[in-house]
Amino acid sequence: MANAITELSERVRALRDEFARAVAEVRAAGDLQALHDRFLGRRSGELNALLKSLGRLPDEGRRAAGQELNALKDEITRRLDAARAALEARGLLERLARERVDITHSPMFQQVEGLVVGRGIHLGHLKGTIEAFLHGLFGAERAVRFRPSYFPYTEPSVEADLTCAVCGGKGCRVCKQTGWVEILGSGMVHPAVFEAVNARLGRPVYDPEEVTGFAFGLGIERVTMMRHGVDDIRLFYGNDLRFLEQFRG
Ligand SMILES: [Zn+2]
Repeated sequence: MANAITELSERVRALRDEFARAVAEVRAAGDLQALHDRFLGRRSGELNALLKSLGRLPDEGRRAAGQELNALKDEITRRLDAARAALEARGLLERLARERVDITHSPMFQQVEGLVVGRGIHLGHLKGTIEAFLHGLFGAERAVRFRPSYFPYTEPSVEADLTCAVCGGKGCRVCKQTGWVEILGSGMVHPAVFEAVNARLGRPVYDPEEVTGFAFGLGIERVTMMRHGVDDIRLFYGNDLRFLEQFRG
């Protein structure tokens, strides 16, 4: 019977090693839950299976084996908690990194949006309107290009780029050396949007078979940066009067 106790001790040791390997590979909260279920789960957890086998052990040694199992259970619980805390800390750091303000990105910005709906509206209207709008705003010498993109409410979706006003297309830190700056997002209104509007209004106002439309949106700060050669978006929120007073009407 001493063999049964030795055997259990060996299984505890193997389980501890197995857990240590598995916990080192945890990358997401889902992995942690899977580990918890695998080792500590009430029904199919490996530790529970060992605890149940305690009853088959002789009296002498059962107590020590039980303590060994409980110690392992505590250790696994503690290490799972530590891994969860580490994951949360990493998530927070990643979120902060994403929200960091740099010279062309800010978590806060102002957006202007345009929407045209009618019969026979097509992608040519979108391209013509946006090109005329951007040329009116920035001058006809600035080239406009359209790139396929994805937005949830439009299909197809396109993004419009303009040659960089700061460097004139040669490449600088604002355009990340590409010569182009993304200026707006746009696309043909998705038919499901018209259906959603009808559902909201409770009557068929826009027949998706009959009407189409295009929509676009652009950030005011980015437009101002390009029009006036401002090379840092943070200046708009810095409340520095020397900067702000330049734009008095
Ligand atoms: Zn540039």
